[in-house]
Amino acid sequence: MKTVSNDSSGFYFDRLPGGATIGRFGALDALGFVHGVTTLKGFDTALAARDPSTAAEDFAGVLGLDGAAWLEQIHGVNTIIVDSSGPAGSADGLITEAPGLALVGRSADCPLVLVADSAGRAVGMFHAGWRGTTGGIAMEFIRRIIGHFDSGPAELVACICPSVGLCCYEVGQDVQDAAVAGLGAHAVKFFAYRKGKLHFDMQACICDQLLRVGLVRHNVHPSGVCTICHEDLFCSYRRQGAVAGRFQAAIARTA
Ligand SMILES: [Zn+2]
Repeated sequence: MKTVSNDSSGFYFDRLPGGATIGRFGALDALGFVHGVTTLKGFDTALAARDPSTAAEDFAGVLGLDGAAWLEQIHGVNTIIVDSSGPAGSADGLITEAPGLALVGRSADCPLVLVADSAGRAVGMFHAGWRGTTGGIAMEFIRRIIGHFDSGPAELVACICPSVGLCCYEVGQDVQDAAVAGLGAHAVKFFAYRKGKLHFDMQACICDQLLRVGLVRHNVHPSGVCTICHEDLFCSYRRQGAVAGRFQAAIARTA
């Protein structure tokens, strides 16, 4: 299948033996972390919207994992640390040190970010809609994983899954105001006008937050894939509205 990024550590699509297409990051492959992003090809995205528990367990099974932890995602900035499968509570970040436990997020445009401690201590996943992104969830999440697991920021690898891109993400002035209020005046650089309309680059904003809390640039991997432009592969709430399904992203520590 085509490779999206032009370096081996970036995002690419992989066709599974049964014919389903999954997104992966070379950087996480290289470190041996089981992970993936579901697409419309071979995955039940309606199930993921309707029944997150069953969809998460099904996806964990596809990845060869025994169990899945998942969140009621609430567009906040909080993270929960888990050690067992099932619903973990209401928050937007999950971290575990349990081997073989899939941390599963779901989305229809919002960035899902997979994080791995390259020394193998922990993995994490967070969901960053515009409220979470402008509220600084990426920085909060990294501080939490560093504080709890004694990971050094330079040891962390972060991969940003497909999400609505700058090309397609038209927002109101309220979103830019929230970004400046939450992140500081520099946050205006993640906004640009396209045909007179304000657009927001969430992947760039998340990358910037990750670097500010000490991640190293070569360990930060934005997929650069837009969910609206790739309608053959991804659900999009912006494009499809209330009937949109959800794609999932998952990561696990290996046993
Ligand atoms: Zn786009």
